[in-house]
Amino acid sequence: WGSETIAVVTGANRGIGYEITRQLAGHGLNVILTSRNINNCHEASKALQEEGLKVTVHQLDISDPMSIEVFAEWIRQNYGGIDILVNNAGVNFNIGSDNSVEFAEKVIEINYFGTKRMIKTMIPLMRSSAFGSRIVNVSSRLGRLNGRRNRIGDVILRDQLSDDNTLSEELIDRTVTNFLEEVKLGNWTSGVWPQMFTDYSISKLAVNCYTRLTKTLSESQDGPGICINCYCPGWVKTAMTGWAGNSPVEEGADTGVWLALLPGQRVTGKFFAERREITF
Ligand code: NDP
Repeated sequence: WGSETIAVVTGANRGIGYEITRQLAGHGLNVILTSRNINNCHEASKALQEEGLKVTVHQLDISDPMSIEVFAEWIRQNYGGIDILVNNAGVNFNIGSDNSVEFAEKVIEINYFGTKRMIKTMIPLMRSSAFGSRIVNVSSRLGRLNGRRNRIGDVILRDQLSDDNTLSEELIDRTVTNFLEEVKLGNWTSGVWPQMFTDYSISKLAVNCYTRLTKTLSESQDGPGICINCYCPGWVKTAMTGWAGNSPVEEGADTGVWLALLPGQRVTGKFFAERREITF
């Protein structure tokens, strides 16, 4: 990895994404700091550039297919491709311990469909670097399929999503769509769906499942291929938690940066926290 290595970070104007950008650039990489608001891009990059870090900016709203297309075309023309993609952008409208599903559509659209759209659009642009290119999805333990306190109550659905033989993109999409339908009809029930941060948990569960589904990318390509993993940053002091988390952003970013730069090994389709593999 070096200054020829191109890394893209989404939602990098603040919080964990900003810190991932800072740490990756600190390793000498050329990092593209993206944000849905271009002014925030410039604002955020200023301090990093003043430190001498190689940071370039571009507008990118992951909920807007056109914005993603424009970004991908800019990458194609200016760099030819990228080596690392960190899908960090995300939203959560649950405040404190509330379990609101008021913004369910937005949460699923950005956290799951936006992340998926980024992965699909950027895959053809992932270069075959010496160790293989990397996709890191910033997810959450709240999205665990078999978490003890917060999981889907429907055992059959949970088994289907857990089993690699039955997991499919259609099943993941159907799961989130069914949830949104129930929210619209006002008859979603806790017990059936995760009981804490329900909409957010389902969005991250979908990201985790999609990460497992796309792990074959590293197997299907000639050469080192693409490694795709997800991780939970812990409970981090950022705007999302109202700065109530118990870890600083440096810790929240650490496992993501470690996964992006993992030397040599072909690790793919796994879930991590604190630099250790955890179960989905
Ligand atoms: P912040 O709210 O500080 O940052 C979220 C970032 O995502 C912001 O830059 C925000 O941009 C951006 N974003 C939101 N929507 C979009 C969009 N449509 N397109 C592009 N960017 C967008 O939160 P964190 O830093 O805490 O969160 C980063 C990631 O970590 C998220 O995926 C979150 O779910 C995950 N996470 C966080 C935890 C925590 O304890 N903080 C725990 C577990 C997971 P803008 O400034 O324009 O709103």
